[in-house]
Amino acid sequence: MSVNLQTPIDYLKGVGPSRADLLRKELGIHTYQDLINLFPNRYLDRTHYYKINQLQRNNADVQVIGKITHFKEVAQKRGKRLVATFQDDTGTMELVWFRGQKWIKDKLKCNKPYVVFGKTNWFGGKFNMPHPEVEALEEHENNLRSAMQPVYPSTEKLTNSGITNRALSKIMQQLFIETGGKFSETLPDSLRAELQLINKQSALFNVHFPKNQELLARAQFRLKFEELFYIQLQLIIKNLIHKSKIKGFPFNHVGDYFNSFFKNHLPFNLTYAQKRVLKEIRADLGSHAQMNRLLQGDVGSGKTIVGFMSMLMALDNGFQACLMAPTEILSVQHYSGLLQWCKKLNINIKILTGSTKTSERKKIHETLENGQLQIVIGTHALLEDKVKFKNLGLAIIDEQHRFGVAQRSKLWHKNTSPPHILVMTATPIPRTLAMSVYGDLDISVIDELPPGRKPIKTVHRYDNNRLNVFRFIRDEISKGRQIYVVYPLIQESEKMDYKDLMDGYESLSRDFPMPDYQISIVHGKMKPEDKDYEMRRFLKGETQIMVATTVIEVGVNVPNASVMIIESAERFGLSQLHQLRGRVGRGAKQSYCILMTSHKLSNDSKVRLETMVKTNDGFEIAEVDLKLRGPGDIMGTQQSGVLNLKIADLIKDQDILQHARYHAKNILKIDPKLELSENKSILNTYRQLSKFKNIWNYIS
Ligand code: ADP
Ligand code: MG
Repeated sequence: MSVNLQTPIDYLKGVGPSRADLLRKELGIHTYQDLINLFPNRYLDRTHYYKINQLQRNNADVQVIGKITHFKEVAQKRGKRLVATFQDDTGTMELVWFRGQKWIKDKLKCNKPYVVFGKTNWFGGKFNMPHPEVEALEEHENNLRSAMQPVYPSTEKLTNSGITNRALSKIMQQLFIETGGKFSETLPDSLRAELQLINKQSALFNVHFPKNQELLARAQFRLKFEELFYIQLQLIIKNLIHKSKIKGFPFNHVGDYFNSFFKNHLPFNLTYAQKRVLKEIRADLGSHAQMNRLLQGDVGSGKTIVGFMSMLMALDNGFQACLMAPTEILSVQHYSGLLQWCKKLNINIKILTGSTKTSERKKIHETLENGQLQIVIGTHALLEDKVKFKNLGLAIIDEQHRFGVAQRSKLWHKNTSPPHILVMTATPIPRTLAMSVYGDLDISVIDELPPGRKPIKTVHRYDNNRLNVFRFIRDEISKGRQIYVVYPLIQESEKMDYKDLMDGYESLSRDFPMPDYQISIVHGKMKPEDKDYEMRRFLKGETQIMVATTVIEVGVNVPNASVMIIESAERFGLSQLHQLRGRVGRGAKQSYCILMTSHKLSNDSKVRLETMVKTNDGFEIAEVDLKLRGPGDIMGTQQSGVLNLKIADLIKDQDILQHARYHAKNILKIDPKLELSENKSILNTYRQLSKFKNIWNYIS
């Protein structure tokens, strides 16, 4: 190939230094390569002509053939506008100009056939088209450009500097002329044949200059597949390298602790999903690779016991284990839960948090180092440098979204060799997102709740219905149940939020007076020990109502609580609402979630509330959340590189993603080092990818 696609864009005929500068700054286009991978956002269909009587209000991008019958000038507040009456055999509409009127009047003739193109408005009982593109019919017919006109990403600065969409199309055309439209294939023939993918060259051509709808669709499909395929390939290879390079401790035998617990002390039958996940974990732990597994399971799906039984596998092989939780309350809960089981098995377990007394802390440090202490539960306190293990074999992290990646890696370095890592999260990540972002992690899913759970009933109530809600609370309390009332707390409006919280607390105190009722309050401004004190009172059933900000969001388990009232529910995100709701429904009794809002609701808020009322399924909720917020917002900016897709769309192209992942996996299974001659194009592309980082920056 004669033209190197890494040539700076300045060298393309018709670009030049100042345009090149703009292209770099505004669109990140540095090379020919970048330009070829500037994919249109959408296409204008110029194969279809509308009749005037077919127009709809707010039609975008319509073209109509007709004649101008006359012009008029209409005075308006500032200046005047030029209006042309435009007619075809079905009716009339108006063309309107607010600027450049003299030029228009000179150029356009009455009673001559024109094609007009633009967006239509409905105004004063008529359709009009402001500032249409106008072309003489004759010229239009001679000039038949590609039927689907690409619309490229642009910025105001570009357009104002004359790099309009039309100009970009021309530049693109020039690129195809200079390169002869020749681009190397990046996917093996066999794969293309199997999936009926068109070749790279015609895909690139048709994505920029589509001959028709069908070819465009095939070009887009091919390029989307390619993009997702190479992302998956990279992730899977990363995972394979990780597994082969980083040796884990093989836990070869299933020993006494595990067996004894399984045979004699299981408090309930494990669900099918719990058993499956345990098998997956056991396979990892038994291999020679280091486990790096994400365990997803909705709130209440029973992740804790799975984590505990994994710890037993570590202990059975002479290793220690730790469990890290994001808050003190949660750590205490885990500790007291696991302590009961550990007592039966004669296992030494301790808890280490910020409030552990110095003498106790010292002892924990010592026994961790000499190996007497087998399991330690705790908060961030576990990450302190002073905490050293004799042989940490397994680290479990609960509710991972509260911990950063940096913290996770700190745990890693607590040993000469990294421990196996199990991250448990109740925030379901949509499958597609998990595949794209965590494609290098292994994922287990508990997709089944323990039997006998009654689905939580969720309703949406407006603030002016509060009296009925209070009556309902009173009934539930008289049945011996407990109630959560949660207020939003958002940093920006902290002061107002606290006022709302305190007002709410006072109003509840009036309606539910002492001594018949006891109310707890917990919020972020309280001292940790006061928070804990209040939390414990509620846990023990000494108070019936818990008024709180979102500090109770994660993990807390009070099975007797049956009602979750969420105030200003419109201000919470979906995953947070779902998390909060998960605080109830933990006992055998029917539980309820009441979403309180004002009447002022945005469309997105409405969708969130409707979704909550409609379903209890965390994964379904996560999918809606993904659609509402987009992948970037959900995963944070950290992974934005992976999510910065040029042509594929994680939401719309889920099917393609599944295919891409399947084929990437398959190919690597047969040919892990990409040595087969048929996979040469993949190897080449993969190498380029690693060099240029960005998926699309490889040499064609
Ligand atoms: P999460 O996944 O939210 O961490 P937990 O592990 O706290 O859930 O479990 C929630 C509750 O369900 C606990 O009280 C636990 O004892 C109980 N549980 C877990 N698994 C089962 C099961 N297979 N059968 C019955 N109850 C179970
Ligand atoms: Mg949990």
